[in-house]
Amino acid sequence: MNRLPHNGNGRSRTVVRVDAEAKTSDTEFILRIGKGELATFSCYSPKPHGITVHWDVQQSRSEGHYEPEEECEGCQKNKPQKNLFYLWGQWCEKQKFCFLELPEGACKHLIGLLGMGETLRGAGLVIRRGDGKKAHLQIRLGNRFDHPEALPKDKDPLPTLESLWGKKRDTAKRRSEEVLPDVSHKLNGSVL
Ligand SMILES: [Zn+2]
Repeated sequence: MNRLPHNGNGRSRTVVRVDAEAKTSDTEFILRIGKGELATFSCYSPKPHGITVHWDVQQSRSEGHYEPEEECEGCQKNKPQKNLFYLWGQWCEKQKFCFLELPEGACKHLIGLLGMGETLRGAGLVIRRGDGKKAHLQIRLGNRFDHPEALPKDKDPLPTLESLWGKKRDTAKRRSEEVLPDVSHKLNGSVL
């Protein structure tokens, strides 16, 4: 498989692929949409996997947040926290399986686009980020897959993230259930 060199600040003009370390499969990587980039994504996750991380502003990259806080390097260094959301699926342009990373605002917006009782599984997503200095991620629903039961199973992003962070602890704090309170009713009662 062709691999892009890992670039130190995690940004480039093409769609950034943060390659997983040797511990995880080559096919598992995190897709983060940078400035001026566009991607279409076929989603296999019924709902986003929300994970609380520390965010390094200068390097534009995440680090794990761990409980208890006294044992978390990021907390001890007062690094800011944020929630990031991951969807497993296929990056259509490259026909590669990966986790799409979304910030909280884009993720809330996406769930708000769903009809009542509809999940993200089988949804086609079109994601783009403008060129401006503070360009937000724009996301819309594209074509929906007719037979979601035939799609590959959902996947947990944590092993891939932990491999990228170079750490593994079972206590990584997760926020899969309690996030997106204002729109979560849309995903309640769905077959997951
Ligand atoms: Zn922490």
